[in-house]
Amino acid sequence: MSTLRFHAVKAALRRKPLKIKEKKRRSEIFGENVFNETSMRQYLTKTALNSVLEAIEKGTKIDRIVADHISTGMKEWAISKGATHYTHWFQPLTGATAEKHDAFFETIGDGLAIEKFGGDQLVQQEPDASSFPNGGIRNTFEARGYTAWDPTSPAFIYDKTLCIPTVFVSYTGEALDFKTPLLRALQAVDNASVAVCKYFDKNVKKVNASLGWEQEYFLIDSALAISRPDILLTGRTVFGHSPAKGQQLDDHYFGTIPARAMAYMRDLEHNCMLLGIPVKTRHNEVAPNQFELAPIFEEANLAVDHNSLLMDVMQKIAKRHNFTVLMHEKPFAGVNGSGKHNNWSLSTNTGVNLLSPGKTPMSNLQFLTFFVNTIRAVQTHEELIRAAIASASNDHRLGANEAPPAIISVFIGDQLTKVLNELETVTKGKLSPKEKTDLKLNVVGKIPEILLDNTDRNRTSSFAFTGNKFEFRAVGSTANCAKPMTVLNTIVAKQLMDFKVEVDKLIDDKGMKKDDAIFNVLREYIKTSKDIRFEGNGYSDDWEKEAEKRGLSNNKTTPEALKIKKAKSTIDLFDELGVMNSVESMARYEIEMEDYIHHIQIESRIVGDMARNHIVPTAIKYQNTLIKNVKGLKDIYGAQFKTLGKAQLGLIEKISEHIEAINSAVTEMTETRKLINNESDLEKKADGYCNKVRPFFDEIRYHCDKLELMVDDELWPLTKYRELLFTK
Ligand code: ADP
Ligand code: MG
Repeated sequence: MSTLRFHAVKAALRRKPLKIKEKKRRSEIFGENVFNETSMRQYLTKTALNSVLEAIEKGTKIDRIVADHISTGMKEWAISKGATHYTHWFQPLTGATAEKHDAFFETIGDGLAIEKFGGDQLVQQEPDASSFPNGGIRNTFEARGYTAWDPTSPAFIYDKTLCIPTVFVSYTGEALDFKTPLLRALQAVDNASVAVCKYFDKNVKKVNASLGWEQEYFLIDSALAISRPDILLTGRTVFGHSPAKGQQLDDHYFGTIPARAMAYMRDLEHNCMLLGIPVKTRHNEVAPNQFELAPIFEEANLAVDHNSLLMDVMQKIAKRHNFTVLMHEKPFAGVNGSGKHNNWSLSTNTGVNLLSPGKTPMSNLQFLTFFVNTIRAVQTHEELIRAAIASASNDHRLGANEAPPAIISVFIGDQLTKVLNELETVTKGKLSPKEKTDLKLNVVGKIPEILLDNTDRNRTSSFAFTGNKFEFRAVGSTANCAKPMTVLNTIVAKQLMDFKVEVDKLIDDKGMKKDDAIFNVLREYIKTSKDIRFEGNGYSDDWEKEAEKRGLSNNKTTPEALKIKKAKSTIDLFDELGVMNSVESMARYEIEMEDYIHHIQIESRIVGDMARNHIVPTAIKYQNTLIKNVKGLKDIYGAQFKTLGKAQLGLIEKISEHIEAINSAVTEMTETRKLINNESDLEKKADGYCNKVRPFFDEIRYHCDKLELMVDDELWPLTKYRELLFTK
């Protein structure tokens, strides 16, 4: 074994699970480091508390003087917990979270110092943010953006630092982060849903979108991970032959969690509890060393923050367990990749889940209204939904192995298909009293309250209804959930607005009764959104053909998928709903395209570097051994060496062929890259990286992986798949 590989494996084998002591019950420590309502009651004046609560519930502004009271209380609380610093915590468009810490500490002259944290520091900050992607919104020489407090997501303490969730906007007011458009989309869906709810219940004043994400990830011993330059720099392996055993025995899924991984999870969960992240479920996933973690669902903005925070905490905790967490959507070829299902629903201030069938025909009609409108929204905007989950890393997963295809379709299960089929036959215009009674009692009235057995009946759908929520499954494991959530809530909001207009029109112009009007509009929606519904195997080739016939998009690569983001219809949609103006929309499009280019560029360099500096020299070394051997045979046996050394001679030639193939492909890839780098047009550049550079990866990999099988294991420099995947 190469020295590095040897030491890595040795280190990994010696590790023991850390001992995790949990002295208190989890319910006792839940939210201990969060400035939640309980701590606010303790540390805030009544006025300050009410002002925060009102801001959370109604989005009202907080007065500057009150902000001073709040910051004082927050500081006292944070210091009592040992915090020394504070930071605005935000999610710029890099995909990671950002922080800039300041100490509470301040000097006041005469060698004296105090702890200070005023309302101004709580409410607004100006990080030097010139290096965050902004897609041309800010001139970099200005580089002025500011962060502003989002009181709807509570402050928390992490690593002795008070973290204040904030939005990040430019001085001209454009959003530079993920959170701002999300908050606006949530507002839009709230308004639109409340308006529609009024048909059914006048008491509904607020509708919240809920999100429950399921985070999949791989845990790899850190020594093994570091020994691979590709994992270190790209989070995935660009080479590596499949091991003799992969996931075919299905022996990892839901199996016993390995001891070291278990210790890690417990430690992680403990920290999540302190931070108020309500994690609940943990289990092994399908691939070896792959796991999943899921919380109890929460209000979408909070859930998004919690997922971003979690991804950060996961990496930090992993360090002390000598693990590297691979969040990448496809770290290993040949075994399952990782996703992040986004479970989504809408719930009212009256405690009703609008996507859950109820007990009465009336509540079921409300359920059907939201259910059908969601399907219709996805039908209309399927391409935008696809774009919301597009990234260089998720491209590996969509359509590969276990993952949802790049086609968006909605699965609803047999029972609801039946209901929709019946509703589709409803008479046009006013309904006869008999038909209405029949419909209410026998169709709508009979939707079983618990449809949960629907869950997981179809794992191949990208957007599945699972009893009381929709599960958006095509989201990638590295994604910031804000992206899919912003799009989903925006399109549903728009759809509900259109619905309301149509229903009101039938009531006002045609004198229809409310129920008749609702049935009429729903019937049309059911008809016009049929194409997006698919109950079969989403991974089959037949579906791809069928989807094409139906006119559904099948954008397999990110540059292709992103195009819809700059379409006029998209820009207008976000603009109309106040989610993003055209500058913000275009900026995001550009940032994502650039991000794609950078990812492929980095991977391409790694592929070239590892092929040339690791694999080819090793192959030559082994080839030299073979040559020496053949020469020896010749010395001893003379002409007979050709028969005796037949296998060696064959190998020598094969190795030369692979080396030659690798060398010419790497040279060509590098030349291609150079040409494309000179391209100034963003789209042409992305297209070049996607369709001209990327295809070399598979070609080079093919030859490198073949060499891995041929070359003496003692010499092979790269930690192998079996070591990465089966060291526990
Ligand atoms: P699985 O999809 O693996 O079968 P579950 O059905 O338990 O898992 O749920 C997965 C996630 O969905 C969890 O985060 C859970 O909290 C969330 N979830 C459950 N009900 C809802 C809901 N009404 N709205 C949003 N998320 C929900
Ligand atoms: Mg799920």
